Amino acid sequence: MNIGEIDEEATVMELADRRIAFLGLGNMGRPMAVNLVRAGASVTGFDPVPAAVARAASASVGTAASAADAARGADIVITMLPSGRHVLDCYRDILPAVGPGTLFIDCSTIDVAAARAAAALVIEADCRAIDAPVSGGVVGAEAATLTFMVGGDPASVASAEPLLRALGARAIHCGASGAGQAAKICNNMILGISMIAVSEAFALGQRLGLTDQALFDVASTASGQCWALTTNCPVPGPVPTSPANRAYRGGFASGLMLKDLRLARSAADAEGVRTVLGRTAAEIYADFVRVDGPGRDFSAVITAIRDGAVGARHDEETAHE
Ligand code: NAD
Repeated sequence: MNIGEIDEEATVMELADRRIAFLGLGNMGRPMAVNLVRAGASVTGFDPVPAAVARAASASVGTAASAADAARGADIVITMLPSGRHVLDCYRDILPAVGPGTLFIDCSTIDVAAARAAAALVIEADCRAIDAPVSGGVVGAEAATLTFMVGGDPASVASAEPLLRALGARAIHCGASGAGQAAKICNNMILGISMIAVSEAFALGQRLGLTDQALFDVASTASGQCWALTTNCPVPGPVPTSPANRAYRGGFASGLMLKDLRLARSAADAEGVRTVLGRTAAEIYADFVRVDGPGRDFSAVITAIRDGAVGARHDEETAHE
């Protein structure tokens, strides 16, 4: 499904009579809740952090004293929370407060097992569930240009369509419950690995006397091309809009990349899949976040790769082979 093709006026009309509970008003949740208000929905938000509630309230999002109060009487419950444990605890807390048929949409990035368990809890309570993690970050949440990766039964996914249309540019139905999360962590494993590959290539090219522009001109039009190179280029210059040109501020935080690589590693362990590069990427980002902190764009990993500050354990391992 491509929600970009849906008629915008119809979307506003369909959302106008919906009561939506929005739980988790952090960096992503607040702008998403605000966009739903702008689309005409009646939104009641909750977050245990009072400052998060106050910021949402100042942008016309209704507020409640607890997650259960926000969810009571809602047609749709959206969660945008830090982890699977938060989502499961939250669902157990609010399920007694909602009526049958309520649609639960979890947009958090969480592990596949927790996503499936959360959907099972909801379905057992005679409600409907989809997982709909996002890519696009805070900028995409504010501009309503997010991409949703969606898991759940086709009827529930179809009924979420007007809402996803108000929040994003694209939604891809990936399969049954948990499939959205599976797609998200597999995609981000590709992204983490490819950013390290691109960064290692620039570090080596510089030592070999290549200019960054020369390597970019070759690789971006040859078989080395990928999003990490052509959109989020880790060196300043070749792609003027990439975070490297603004000291790696903004963009997709290294701490979130580490979180997603760890989710991919746990899933691979649970399924018995040997993801050697995915595992190595998680180790490199763990080293990087330890020295640089979690806040800068994940392409800043090139600074540590150039300095030889990450990946040392692999040198030790190969030295003993
Ligand atoms: P955040 O920490 O800014 O927000 C999470 C919010 O959830 C916090 O304000 C927290 O107080 C609140 N919360 C915790 N338990 C709650 C409960 N029971 N009820 C209501 N609220 C509760 O995090 P974020 O950056 O907004 O990210 C949210 C999710 O989106 C995460 O799973 C993250 O991995 C994912 N994500 C983030 C980005 C990004 O760029 N920030 C991009 C893609 C996906």
